[in-house]
Amino acid sequence: MISKKTIDEIMFATKIEDVVGDFVTLKRQGQGFVGVCPFHNDKNPSMHVTPRLGIYKCFVCDAKGNAIHFLMEHAKMTYPEALEYLAKKYSITIEYDREETEEEKNLRSEKESLFLVNEFAEKYFMDQLRNSEEGKMLGLSYFKERGFKDATMDKFHLGYCPGGWDSFTKEALKQGYKEEFLLKLGLTKKSESGKLYDFYRGRVIFPIHNTVGKTIGFGGRILKKDDKIAKYFNSPENEIYHKSDTLYDLYLAKKAIRQKDNIYLVEGYTDVISMFESGVENVIASSGTSLTDGQVKMIFALTRNITVLYDGDAAGIKASLRGIDMLLEKGMNVRVCLLPDGEDPDSFAKKHRDSELQDYLTNNTTDFILFKAQILSEEAGKDPIKRANVVNSILESIAKVQEPITQSFYIKECARIFELPENTLGSKIRSIIWKTNTDKKKAGQDSNVQMPVLQDVQIQEQRKAEQQLRPQTNLLYEAEKDLVLLLLKYGLYEITTDRNVEEGIVTKQRIDQYIVNDLYNDGIVLQDNTLRKVYEHYGRIAEILNDKDEIQRTFLFSEDKDEYQFAIDNLSNETYQYSPQWEKKLDMLTRFADNNIHNLQQVVADTLLALKLRIVEQQIAFLTNEMKSGNYNEEETIGLITHINQLNKCRKTIAEGLNRVISK
Ligand code: ATP
Ligand code: MN
Repeated sequence: MISKKTIDEIMFATKIEDVVGDFVTLKRQGQGFVGVCPFHNDKNPSMHVTPRLGIYKCFVCDAKGNAIHFLMEHAKMTYPEALEYLAKKYSITIEYDREETEEEKNLRSEKESLFLVNEFAEKYFMDQLRNSEEGKMLGLSYFKERGFKDATMDKFHLGYCPGGWDSFTKEALKQGYKEEFLLKLGLTKKSESGKLYDFYRGRVIFPIHNTVGKTIGFGGRILKKDDKIAKYFNSPENEIYHKSDTLYDLYLAKKAIRQKDNIYLVEGYTDVISMFESGVENVIASSGTSLTDGQVKMIFALTRNITVLYDGDAAGIKASLRGIDMLLEKGMNVRVCLLPDGEDPDSFAKKHRDSELQDYLTNNTTDFILFKAQILSEEAGKDPIKRANVVNSILESIAKVQEPITQSFYIKECARIFELPENTLGSKIRSIIWKTNTDKKKAGQDSNVQMPVLQDVQIQEQRKAEQQLRPQTNLLYEAEKDLVLLLLKYGLYEITTDRNVEEGIVTKQRIDQYIVNDLYNDGIVLQDNTLRKVYEHYGRIAEILNDKDEIQRTFLFSEDKDEYQFAIDNLSNETYQYSPQWEKKLDMLTRFADNNIHNLQQVVADTLLALKLRIVEQQIAFLTNEMKSGNYNEEETIGLITHINQLNKCRKTIAEGLNRVISK
């Protein structure tokens, strides 16, 4: 268990904009930042990040939370993983309360165990490569032959798995890692006779990391050429390795991608590593297949610009053209760079100096659609039917382009390349778009790709509908909530509690003290569990805190789920501007307070009165019900009625005092 002290240290050091910024490109806006929300399909910067409160919030899909929750939701970490990630990021040494018990070890989620096994395996392979005789002689020399530098091998955590039968598996079992997990991760296999053996034996190892640098799988390359055995072995899919959500090695490339605002897409491990060595670090590989939806989303959160690097051989190009359309569909700007005949990024980077590679990339990168048009046009030659097919295929791509101006630019260029009238192509495009939209509707998909604005509106409508469905009955709850929010937002402000004009004495008191005293004197205890918890927690910390943001952060970072949820639901509202309509509906009293911080005295009085009013009303309702129950004799009933009458008078007095506030 990570100690409370460490958790506090981590919370203190954590900057929400750093953490979200690791995954989403943020732009400064006012006091905070905005970026494309990674939790729903979007093109607009709907995600707001507020450093002051340490939180993020998407105003379209309503994803919100603190840094820990961002890591848990977006990077799929567990709570301890998120803490470890932050500790590492901010160089905080983690202190543990105590050793884990055997039982706790077993209870730890399977996923976590799988990560641990992979971590062990990665370290083992790395150690073998660097320190064992066999590793140095076979593995290290292989990588050296490929031209990999030591520093690069370290950066990519490259390794070597010994060529014996089960050296790795034996060691792993000896260290207490379970056979079940070794098999699940594909590190170990079982022969027909039931013997365990190392899957990657005699191979050099390329570990695969997720976006936060955890090892989720491995690729193992054979050393000697052997046509009978696959050149590469790769991890099977499992709970922690999803090929379709993985990009090699996005973790290392993230920073450069953001800096360059562009990403190079290559085929595999060795291409990425060689480009890195040549100083091009904004490079990733999709590992064979064309990009998946999940991968495109990950890329889109970082940049809209992608350059696909193609090997010099034409066969590969044609096959992958189709996969690229998906990038266009998402609104990415796609460019391509064709390498000279027979070269792949790996071999090209090796043969040229860093500056030559850089120059080549700069000078040979062209727009994807024009590239596609050019290639297909050349291929089709003069054959009219082939040419017509090619034009149709290009128009399919152009139809995917979201930006109308860009789209008309392409139409113009294609008209030139294919020597066709522009408006013929234009009307053809319109019919393609029309057809795609109706097809999508038929298939029951929403056509949000074509209409991003509509999508946002729909989500908002849906959320509004949900808000309205929520039972509006509990007025007492609302009053308690208003009071607690008043504490969290303005508890530290001072109000005048007594004014003696004649003697010229003015008594001031902090709002929180005033409220706590008042409730205590009237014997009022909040009824809602969460609100009471927050209220009492506030009481414990208010004295030692002197800053409003610090108070709010205490709850926004609370380990108590209820407290956290309450805070994030109610305090994150400040991170962006509501329309006035929204404010009226959702946050009536705090809006009132927020607009009247110069009249906090009145706000405090009204909030307390409103709470008391609801308490009295609740009592009236209770007694009225009792009276109607028929369980009382005449005398008792009269007693009840008298009591109810008193309460009604009391209610009237409060209501008069309040007349401005009560609208319900
Ligand atoms: P060679 O030394 O023969 O060029 P290589 O290891 O560079 O071998 P290539 O056949 O050139 O491999 O493959 C192109 C790219 O795709 C490389 O970056 C390689 O790492 C990667 N790759 C090849 N096969 C696989 C595979 N089965 N799984 C994952 N990546 C692969
Ligand atoms: Mn190669």
